[in-house]
Amino acid sequence: MNKIVIASNNPGKLREIGAILAPLAIEVVPQGALGVSEADEPYGTFVENALTKARHASRATGLPALADDSGVCVHALSGEPGVHSARYAEAAGSGQRDDQDRRNNEKLLHALEGATDRRAHYYCVIVLLRHADDPQPLIAEAEWHGEILPAPRGEGGFGYDPLFLIPELGRTGAELLPEEKNRVSHRGKALAILVERLRTLSPA
Ligand code: IMP
Repeated sequence: MNKIVIASNNPGKLREIGAILAPLAIEVVPQGALGVSEADEPYGTFVENALTKARHASRATGLPALADDSGVCVHALSGEPGVHSARYAEAAGSGQRDDQDRRNNEKLLHALEGATDRRAHYYCVIVLLRHADDPQPLIAEAEWHGEILPAPRGEGGFGYDPLFLIPELGRTGAELLPEEKNRVSHRGKALAILVERLRTLSPA
């Protein structure tokens, strides 16, 4: 495997995945650069959505494909926005990603007004398909635990990071340097597991 397509158009995710896979001798191409459209994500589980995205990108390009499906699960909201994290505030959104992030964060703050339990975790599942009909997808998952602050802090990261406090660091996801976030985040940990599994892979 010397070239894989990343089944995402999210610039924040692409930055993080690209940085983590950079040391591998594998060329990593975002699906947008190959003219692949965004797949629908109709399912109620992260893993089903990740598989669908990876299969769509692999089928369209003939390349191995890696997909991330992730979200923030807020305990006081029974795990919401969860799989709906990207489009949590969709009805009111303009469709622009920055604007979408801002509106998602506003909606989350509103939903937690007056809440005493502000615990949350990010979840990420990474799926790697060696070809569109690969019967043995590589799957790795991880969580990152924290709390939702009552107001945003920091300029880094993306999505819900300005609201996501890591209590033991005293900083939000948006206050971490990219390499710090990649070491501890749900995505960073899931990718590290996947990379380790890649080393011991049987033929597809
Ligand atoms: P997906 O593209 O359906 O996997 O949606 C993932 C969504 O979850 C993103 O658009 C963000 O709203 C949120 N999310 C996932 N990972 C992160 C992260 O590392 N930081 C901030 N938000 C994240």
